[in-house]
Amino acid sequence: MTQFYGPSRKRYIRQQKQTHGRHPFGVFPAHYPREILWAMNVLPVEIWDPPLEVSHANAHLQPYICSVVKLGLELILQGQCDDLDGFLFPHTCDSIQNLASIVYDYLDIKKPCYFFYHPKAPYRSSSRQYYLEQLQTLASRLEKQLGPLDLSELKQRVQQGERLAYVLRELYTLRARGELCASNTEFYRVIRQGEYLHPDDFLPILEGFLADRKGQADRLCPIILSGILPNPQEILHLLDNLEARVAEDDLLNCSRRLLQPPVAREDPFEALAENYFAMPPCTTKDSPLMERVGFLLQKAAHTDARGVIFCMVKFCEPEFFDLPQMVEELKEKGLASLVVDSELNQGLSGQLATRVEAFLEMIR
Ligand code: SF4
Repeated sequence: MTQFYGPSRKRYIRQQKQTHGRHPFGVFPAHYPREILWAMNVLPVEIWDPPLEVSHANAHLQPYICSVVKLGLELILQGQCDDLDGFLFPHTCDSIQNLASIVYDYLDIKKPCYFFYHPKAPYRSSSRQYYLEQLQTLASRLEKQLGPLDLSELKQRVQQGERLAYVLRELYTLRARGELCASNTEFYRVIRQGEYLHPDDFLPILEGFLADRKGQADRLCPIILSGILPNPQEILHLLDNLEARVAEDDLLNCSRRLLQPPVAREDPFEALAENYFAMPPCTTKDSPLMERVGFLLQKAAHTDARGVIFCMVKFCEPEFFDLPQMVEELKEKGLASLVVDSELNQGLSGQLATRVEAFLEMIR
């Protein structure tokens, strides 16, 4: 079987700068209009869970902050972002907002910082107009650094984003039906390459993966993974070893933002707005809890999954806010759940592994 490994981030960023003159930007989680960046020859390099020892960041942060923020700040403080030409901070949660303020107001990083304020639910008729204005504002601020935005290029990048979403939807559909021959570890390794590869390079990888792995997979116990991101990686290895298939996910850095439905808008800004409002419910967009419950139940119904594993990042306020009620509501509707609460890149303790094992035995 073909292995779908991308180049290392560092090497790729340098190569993109040298070969294509692209501007790599560090982008913090989670929702942002990547098509505008692509159209302006920016390479968005997302910062979720860099594999680092935290040694400098703690001095700037309160101890009860999530490790997405801690690791992101550490990356900057260790000078590992020196090759980047700027940063983008979407307004995802208070912790990212706090990080944006530390980086922009207090650290002398000498790189342009951009902010993107997307609307939160409940959405009103004015939300769409507000979102469109935010898109335009971001584009015109970027123009000052990068030159004018070419609308026909933006249109093409929007179409490319739609093609990406189409292939991802296909992969998710096949996986849900048990028709994708890929382990959990491999699936997420491949789709997470989109966090730093340019779509010109990522799309062929995804298409190759789809063509190569389409087929009847082993019949494994289907489950749903919910939370921010599939980390620690050991949880994926464990699920593979225990013959459980992640049949669907409700992860912020995966399905909640990647599976945009098809849109029919000529104007690229309108198309981006339509995409945004059609995305699945999410804690970071303040979506109503019952909408999230309904969404998970729907996923369980079409995959036959009998359980949800909430893979929580410690101190993630938006996720923990909903969690107790989510668990309660799902239980009432007959869907079992397990909460795995860990720090990023810190592995899975023996105790947690035993709990996952016991949970799978129970739902089987
Ligand atoms: S959404 Fe959660 S994990 Fe992500 S940055 Fe905010 S608090 Fe941290």
